[in-house]
Amino acid sequence: MTFAFDNTYARLPAQFHAATTPTHVRTPRVVKINRALAEVLGLDADLLASAEGAALLSGNALPEGAEPIALAYAGHQFGNFVPQLGDGRAILLGEIVGKDGKRRDLQLKGAGRTRFSRGGDGRAALGPVLREYLVSEAMFALGVPTTRALAAVTTGEHVAREEMLPGAVLTRVAASHIRVGTFEFFAARGDDEALSTLATYALTRHYPDAIGSGNDPRALLERVIDAQANLVARWLGVGFVHGVMNTDNTSISGETIDYGPCAFLDVYDPKKRFSSIDHGGRYAFANQPRIAHWNVTRLAEALLTRLSTDEEEAIGIATQCLEKFPAIFDAAYARVLRAKLGLATAEDSGDAALTADLFGRMAGNDVDYTLFFRRLCDAAQSPEKDAEAASLFTEPAAFRDWAESWRNRLLREPERSAADRAAAMRLSNPAFIPRNHRVEELIVAAAEREDFAPFEALLSVVTRPYEEHPDLAHLATPPKPEERVKATFCGT
Ligand code: AMP
Ligand code: MG
Repeated sequence: MTFAFDNTYARLPAQFHAATTPTHVRTPRVVKINRALAEVLGLDADLLASAEGAALLSGNALPEGAEPIALAYAGHQFGNFVPQLGDGRAILLGEIVGKDGKRRDLQLKGAGRTRFSRGGDGRAALGPVLREYLVSEAMFALGVPTTRALAAVTTGEHVAREEMLPGAVLTRVAASHIRVGTFEFFAARGDDEALSTLATYALTRHYPDAIGSGNDPRALLERVIDAQANLVARWLGVGFVHGVMNTDNTSISGETIDYGPCAFLDVYDPKKRFSSIDHGGRYAFANQPRIAHWNVTRLAEALLTRLSTDEEEAIGIATQCLEKFPAIFDAAYARVLRAKLGLATAEDSGDAALTADLFGRMAGNDVDYTLFFRRLCDAAQSPEKDAEAASLFTEPAAFRDWAESWRNRLLREPERSAADRAAAMRLSNPAFIPRNHRVEELIVAAAEREDFAPFEALLSVVTRPYEEHPDLAHLATPPKPEERVKATFCGT
């Protein structure tokens, strides 16, 4: 099979990467091919699903033109700087320019040890591979910038975690794999030449229209700040908790990357964290904007010597750029929330008070986040449906009081039929998200019984999340108290 590779990152200087051949696996078997994505990439999905495809997608064989490399990067993990991380279990095969003209990385995650593996085995278990496949494709369908999944294959081998688990390889597709941590890697080494090369490369690849302002590193910093502020606003809109917002998991392209212990809110709780290793709640739901700001601050630091030759001036530029983060985030988040509430116009302070009031009431009432907003669409269509939204609150009156202010606000909107408003709201309030208890269930079915039917069922609804799927309606309902997933674990 021909992959139309054009590998620009592999042509960057030697300190950017390490040539790495994937390690052979015993019996690769394709469990899922993303046909729509294969089509965009100009790849033959039938071939990918064949034995030849299984060999390529597991790393047992290399497609022509692949130049497999592991990427060097550093990163702040839970606030602590680690000067060398790098792809310890991911191998970049190369880049493909798709039919849509977009350049994308093709990476095998779980393809064996690399120069950056440290103590790790270079492998991935089936559970986390299916989780990443499902959640990244759900995020894509929700309109959130994200890396995507082209394929999942099992390896026929076991990986040793707390227990022995079936091994798997995910083919991840990304705008690129350049992270804030990639800049930190070179900054920590005082490699100014590499920093300049990387800044130019990243700006050219991701923000070409920003080239030529006279200060390319500044333009890059501004664009990444903008992309991250907008990204996190989208996360909050769908109730997503990333779980490990380390700077090595913060993409320069503004895509969501590295689905480890990620999860979606069931009941609304701003302090919610799922990750078993996030003891202090650093990466809790409502803390994510603050952390994104912190992460882009690390990018600014790494770029400091590139912003100006004069240190004081460089700090001034960085500060100016970083100060804009809160306002960019607030504006992006306000847009997200207006769409969720069915507002086509903005009344800045009034709308902020309206949403703050709602979230205050939701937090105290054990309200399922996704289901509430979906029912609010019905309430927008007909006040008779208010009871169904109200019934999600332990104290239904808490909803009714708020609904009165919401309806008063709707009166100040331009003329629009209730049905039209509800239809618009249904495109911003999904019926289906990858609910944690369902994700856990499908992982058990796949890993313990080789039953992929639950995976396929959930994938089919979360990739069309705004539609009703009456035959799979049970996948939209919140967990019963005893079904609630309390903790998620890293994909390692
Ligand atoms: P992550 O938590 O997936 O973002 O990974 C953090 C760092 O640990 C990265 O440098 C990974 O490449 C590395 N890593 C994670 N899991 C493994 C593994 N099983 N083998 C080798 N390196 C790993
Ligand atoms: Mg990572």
